Amino acid sequence: MADTNKNALRAKLLQRRRALTPERVREGSERIIERLRALREWRNAAEALIYWPVNNEVDLRPLVTELWQRGACVLLPRCRPERNGEMDLACAACEADLTPGPFSIMEPDAGKCPPVQECSPAIALIPGVGFDRAGNRLGFGGGYYDRLLSTEQMRRTLKVGICYGFQVVDGLPADPWDRPMDLICTDDELWRP
Ligand code: ADP
Ligand code: MG
Repeated sequence: MADTNKNALRAKLLQRRRALTPERVREGSERIIERLRALREWRNAAEALIYWPVNNEVDLRPLVTELWQRGACVLLPRCRPERNGEMDLACAACEADLTPGPFSIMEPDAGKCPPVQECSPAIALIPGVGFDRAGNRLGFGGGYYDRLLSTEQMRRTLKVGICYGFQVVDGLPADPWDRPMDLICTDDELWRP
């Protein structure tokens, strides 16, 4: 279904995000970080799934540092070799554990960080190209997070969609495999769909 719809929206939203100035990225990211810090689930998390930003995504790296400082486990997604569209989680202990993955996204180095299967993180901060009020998410088009979020490991995790206010759109086209968010946090607001 809806594939052309999704593609047109992706292109439009990504174009707007590419046009953000570094100041706007920093301001928006700081506001989002403030909101996330106030979340009980964030403050209590002994492990969190988070991401390393690319292409003007909301920059949550200060939160990664905070997790390291409090001795929590920083789980980052890593593309599985030979398994198109699938990601593992791996725990990175410091920035030196990261290396560029297939899409030039920084991911835990497979030589240093084994995949973590047994851990079910309390909270997952999930980037997106767009979200709607109902919690639907639009990604880059590979279905990577849909597959990851459908695993047993992620079933009880609080899934938080992260984006700038302009990325919130009315009625995203949702396909049967799309996994919705439990919470969405932007620089303007935070809500439970
Ligand atoms: P995105 O979520 O990145 O915006 P889509 O939702 O359009 O991308 O999904 C992209 C592709 O991934 C679709 O062709 C879909 O069939 C596939 N896909 C998504 N989730 C799964 C899943 N759990 N199992 C198998 N294929 C999936
Ligand atoms: Mg999807």
